[in-house]
Amino acid sequence: MERRGNGKMLSIKVWNIIQEKEQIVYWANLVWSSKVIPRHQFIIWLVFRERLNTRDHVKKYMEIPDLRCLLCEWNEETYDHLFENHSFASKLWNTFVKNMEMTRFPGDWKEIKEVAMKKAKGTKIKSKIFKCGFDSTVYNIWRERNARAFSRNRRSLEQT
Ligand SMILES: [Zn+2]
Repeated sequence: MERRGNGKMLSIKVWNIIQEKEQIVYWANLVWSSKVIPRHQFIIWLVFRERLNTRDHVKKYMEIPDLRCLLCEWNEETYDHLFENHSFASKLWNTFVKNMEMTRFPGDWKEIKEVAMKKAKGTKIKSKIFKCGFDSTVYNIWRERNARAFSRNRRSLEQT
């Protein structure tokens, strides 16, 4: 009886791992590159798995008096909002887009992710540079958000 129970649990675990792997495939290119700084890789991995403690996530298990985004202090802090082209994030995205010499770049986080996954494919130097820039931009948005969450210091764009 016990064995059967464990077996069932194990197969559920295996199934979950397979499911997870299939999801990872789409954005793995953005994480696994020898050129990307490990701490940036780690944040990208958390971002794409939606494991960062954004306020909309935290509110599921504890009460938060203020749900507003720390970057613009207007909208609710969600993944889709935090990393979209707004406020502090837009300054970083604009710099990134300019450096990449891209003519078009979406403002919506879901679309940004899609563009990033397409651009990160391949082994050419251009996609490597894209990955480094993209990962660094996302990392810096999250770092600034945390800086504002845990201290009163605000950095200007020049300090990033
Ligand atoms: Zn905001």
